[in-house]
Amino acid sequence: MFNSLSDRLTATFKNLRGKGRLTEADVDATVREIRRALLDADVAVPVVREFTARVRERALGAEVSGALNPSQQIVKIVNEELVEILGGETRRIRLAKTGPTIIMLAGLQGAGKTTLAGKLAKWLKAQGHSPLLVACDLQRPNAVTQLQVVGNRAGVPVFAPHPGATSELEHPAGDPVAVARAGVEEARQKLHDVVIVDTAGRLGVDAEMMEQASEIRRAIVPNEVLFVIDAMIGQDAVNTAVAFDEGVNFTGIVLSKLDGDARGGAALSVASVTGKPVMFASTGEGVDDFELFHPDRMASRILD
Ligand code: GDP
Repeated sequence: MFNSLSDRLTATFKNLRGKGRLTEADVDATVREIRRALLDADVAVPVVREFTARVRERALGAEVSGALNPSQQIVKIVNEELVEILGGETRRIRLAKTGPTIIMLAGLQGAGKTTLAGKLAKWLKAQGHSPLLVACDLQRPNAVTQLQVVGNRAGVPVFAPHPGATSELEHPAGDPVAVARAGVEEARQKLHDVVIVDTAGRLGVDAEMMEQASEIRRAIVPNEVLFVIDAMIGQDAVNTAVAFDEGVNFTGIVLSKLDGDARGGAALSVASVTGKPVMFASTGEGVDDFELFHPDRMASRILD
């Protein structure tokens, strides 16, 4: 067993020392190892196919430079391609020019949206912003309370519907679109400069849930729509991501549960099929287990 792709490739190349140029057979042997490493990291099969085809093409065209041996050369190509797909440079949140910056969260139930809402709020607060959390997940019985708990931990107020309320404007209970609108209005009035809107998810992709999320998107016109996806999702990543991208046209990806032992292939699958950047990583249940996503670090993890 080899521990990392670099080790595997070094082994593949151990008989090639001194060769100046890679032959097609050398490249194919290498590409096989890359394919295995990506499948081990749970990257979706079609994504692996497309990725390895691109690496193969580049490797065949590459001049082996003096400074790098052939395996280092290919690892470099693989790394560059991975970083490119994952979004290149770490992408920052786009702030609104006037009025509050509106960030909407979307994703399957259990993906880690509510937890992320608290983390993101705390992180933004530490940077001098004044966020407001808005509880639009009215599907799950405990979701509103959970957001309130998370908001408390983050030291950030939560706008939530009052159960049993009847007046739409003041207490828009029961209608997530009305809650979202009222939450944004509350932020404007109380001069919050960021609004984070938590939305409902289902266990699987579901037309009604998607319609609701897309209605919320149309109602509040967010600056960012973050799609939260569990790093452990594996081969389902592609279908889920495509459905959410069609439904809410998200602007960025958040990879959650990266503290688990998933190698993070889902990040590559989702970024590759949607062309959207991965922006943040969630790395635990605590309110501080959150970081900016670094494509280069993720590339190493996928290849590990
Ligand atoms: P939501 O349904 O998308 O809002 O998901 P939740 O935020 O309720 O998270 C679902 C479960 O995953 C909860 O038990 C969280 O504590 C847990 N969770 C969320 N994010 C992470 C993470 O980054 N790491 C770990 N280990 N658990 C997480």
